[in-house]
Amino acid sequence: MSTVASKRCNDAWIWTWRRELRGGHEQQQLTDLFSIVNGYSFGSDMDKWMWVGPSSNFTVSHARSIIDSYELGNFVRPIDWCNLVHIKVHIFNWRLHLNRLPAKSNLPDRHIDVGNSSCGLCNTLEETADHLFAKCSITSLIWARIQLWIDLTIPAWNSVDDIWA
Ligand SMILES: [Zn+2]
Repeated sequence: MSTVASKRCNDAWIWTWRRELRGGHEQQQLTDLFSIVNGYSFGSDMDKWMWVGPSSNFTVSHARSIIDSYELGNFVRPIDWCNLVHIKVHIFNWRLHLNRLPAKSNLPDRHIDVGNSSCGLCNTLEETADHLFAKCSITSLIWARIQLWIDLTIPAWNSVDDIWA
């Protein structure tokens, strides 16, 4: 097991990796880590876990609120978890709103090489959630059919956020 102390020698960092960094997101995380730890004075005490919260007592609810604020960011619109809609639809809707669907534009962040990032439906523009659900010419045809089916006029959307507006 690695300790912080094992990664320090004469006030310098000793980094050892199981594999090469992939660059991109991983490199950014390392840069962010350096910005946090550089200039920090480490003592000679044993490493230990410490809860840094409003109080020294760990609570699950506070941990949950920290994770939510990090993961959800500016996500201000709560999802209405209606029992009439299948849970899979709710999860899909939630992931779409967070831009966590596996659109081609999101896959490089997960270290998946997609090669061509063009839309799999129209093959004209980059496949993003906004494109797939609001701008794609093929999707627009589907929305037009839905309009006929439900006999309502759906306004033109430019982004996923427009759908919920
Ligand atoms: Zn398209």
